[in-house]
Amino acid sequence: MRLLFHCCCAPCTAACLETLSSEGIVLRLFWYNPNIHPFTEYKSRRDALLQYTASQNMETEMSGENGGYGLRVFLRSLGGTGGGNDDAIARPARCESCYRLRLEKTAAHAAQNGFNGFSTSLLVSPYQDHEAIRRIGGEAAARYGTAFLYRDFRPRFREGQERARSLGLYMQKYCGCIFSEEERYAKHSKKQEPSP
Ligand code: SF4
Repeated sequence: MRLLFHCCCAPCTAACLETLSSEGIVLRLFWYNPNIHPFTEYKSRRDALLQYTASQNMETEMSGENGGYGLRVFLRSLGGTGGGNDDAIARPARCESCYRLRLEKTAAHAAQNGFNGFSTSLLVSPYQDHEAIRRIGGEAAARYGTAFLYRDFRPRFREGQERARSLGLYMQKYCGCIFSEEERYAKHSKKQEPSP
């Protein structure tokens, strides 16, 4: 089986590859993540993935407009150039749009390039909405006439983190989008505000 494998980052990819290779699946890695902001963060994660895959003698196909950085594409996908309305930028709608954006691009690429199907490293994270990824992956496959390979990689999440750390790869501190960065750090800085 030839599988197009969407990689969200190096640590998650590292956790999945062994499982798939042990099943005899031939992988082509695919990077499409317009949800990672700002540009410096995008570059750190992209370069970490390239560093990891080079260490495994694997190539990664890069996708995305403007050299791959997709802030505008991401915001438009939420329903407007300024980030859409409040409902669209809140969870869970925002994350479902984000999964759809990335998985539809992967499904379309798999269908157009003769792959038997596609899957994603998003399925390894216990912090993502696993069932939504599974459902949206299936919907994207049906839309583009290909197959979504579902696996529950979550038991290997820690292993992927440890492998990335041992290789000295960049480890991200928030999910990816500007909203998740705010959620991560605004919460933290609130704790440090002096009491009134
Ligand atoms: S929090 Fe993560 S999954 Fe949700 S929209 Fe932002 S980058 Fe995407």
